[in-house]
Amino acid sequence: MPATAYDVLIIGSGPGGYIAAVRCGQLGLKTALIEKYPTLGGTCLNVGCIPSKAVLESTELYHKATEQFAAHGIDADNLRADLPRLMARKDQVVKKVCDGVVYLMKKNKVDVIHGTASFVDATTVQVAPAAGGSEEGQQLTAKNIIIATGSKPSSLPFITLDKERVITSTEALALRELPQHLIIVGGGVIGLELGSVYARLGSKVSVVEYTDAIIPTMDRTLGKELLRSLKKQGLEFYLSHKVTAVTREGATVKLTASPAAGGADLQLAGDYCLVSVGRRPFTDGLNLAAAGVELDEKGRVKVDEDLQTTVPGIWAIGDVVRGAMLAHKASDEGVFVAERIAGQKPHLNYLLIPGVVYTWPEVAGVGYTEEQLQELGRAYKAGSFPYSASGRAVAGSDTEGLVKVLTDAQTDEILGVHMIGPRIADIIAEAVGVMHFRAAAEDVGMMSHAHPTYAEAFKEACLNAAGIGALNM
Ligand code: FAD
Ligand code: NAD
Repeated sequence: MPATAYDVLIIGSGPGGYIAAVRCGQLGLKTALIEKYPTLGGTCLNVGCIPSKAVLESTELYHKATEQFAAHGIDADNLRADLPRLMARKDQVVKKVCDGVVYLMKKNKVDVIHGTASFVDATTVQVAPAAGGSEEGQQLTAKNIIIATGSKPSSLPFITLDKERVITSTEALALRELPQHLIIVGGGVIGLELGSVYARLGSKVSVVEYTDAIIPTMDRTLGKELLRSLKKQGLEFYLSHKVTAVTREGATVKLTASPAAGGADLQLAGDYCLVSVGRRPFTDGLNLAAAGVELDEKGRVKVDEDLQTTVPGIWAIGDVVRGAMLAHKASDEGVFVAERIAGQKPHLNYLLIPGVVYTWPEVAGVGYTEEQLQELGRAYKAGSFPYSASGRAVAGSDTEGLVKVLTDAQTDEILGVHMIGPRIADIIAEAVGVMHFRAAAEDVGMMSHAHPTYAEAFKEACLNAAGIGALNM
């Protein structure tokens, strides 16, 4: 049978691949999307962003009801969280968003092919049928191929992930019983979001982190503030501890870690251990060598500024290439490559890709961190505003956190915005917007912000950074 020919073949249906497919369809390119799993949407929709936000939302409601309702004069006795029902709702949410991707592919006339793709040469891909699937294997050719195969959880060499008690985020998002004591290796985004979920439901949660801070890659102020809040919520932290062993004996998981300060090893015993020490780019089975596509020293597909690989006509986007492993970064790159293939001249500003942690308080940042500006030797000014001084936050009894704005010392241009507080996962969009247009802090200080809102804190921090002075502090 002759190979079917396309303008663009996309391997992987995560937020990188499926958004690239939508944009290719919109641009009139004959496009096929290949996915090895039965559902579309990749890590983000199936076992990442969406299910984690579903369970964070449920447990946040429960936490508010148990911890805060009384202060509002609401009595809610005998509250109980039913984990199987909470997980069933999460599964429905996942199904809904994954079905949405099927609809988007139809709407944009993208052919969806289920099976595992591997390169035959630089323009031909073999698709092996998915196990148990009805489709047959086939060869496809294309002028352009986009690799969007994403990432998988990484681990430590001495840890055996049995996926029952020593687990990754994927299993942690589908537990059927509440852990009594959940031990978490890694105080990054996954550890803190999923640690929050189980702590809110009543599990004892211990986080063991190698560095001296949680969320260490974000502006350091955020990690310090979040640490205080999460400790109040009952999570236990062991910073500056190097995990050296994780073993399982029946229903018990034991962890050993050595403190950087020296002294006796830390020994913990729990019933589950979540390993969340980062994710690795996933290229297994792609047979990249047949196409001549090269990897970098970290196993990521090597790309140039245009996201083209070492082979012209083969592109790569998302978690499988350099940069932050974030869904919106993958999608932005998907749009970029689609437009590049169509002959347009798209632009992508990596500095303005925000990062968000969906704990409570929420954490978000965009632009340079204070540590980066210091390293660059750039003269900057800082202004901040605490949520304890926000009328909206006081009305909502949600006063933890602050907004910090970093500006160029000479021009007042906003260089970085770092927030921790209520609802700031959405408020960071305003910072991205004004930074996109290279606003000065004074500009934001002149913009009207509805009162009372959590967003006013951003204006106040800008007034502070501009040297005008916050109005409510
Ligand atoms: P993926 O989403 O990993 O998709 C890759 C797809 O390629 C998969 O479906 C895979 O099956 C398929 N594939 C691989 N090889 C082949 C092959 N040979 N043939 C066919 N198909 C193949 N990011 C955020 O921005 N916000 C969040 O809130 C957030 N929360 C997260 C929570 C968790 C628990 C996790 C694990 C991640 C989270 N992320 C979040 C990160 C986000 O999920 C990833 O950055 C994003 O999914 C990357 O998209 P991608 O398209 O590059 O790859
Ligand atoms: P991460 O990189 O955010 O955090 C890993 C943490 O593990 C780091 O703090 C690191 O210092 C620590 N660590 C590494 N080795 C260790 C060791 N031996 N002992 C103890 N600690 C150790 O990785 P993650 O939390 O696994 O998340 C993976 C990716 O998924 C991230 O890149 C993140 O961007 C993405 N993600 C994003 C979101 C979001 O945007 N809200 C949510 C979840 C995941």
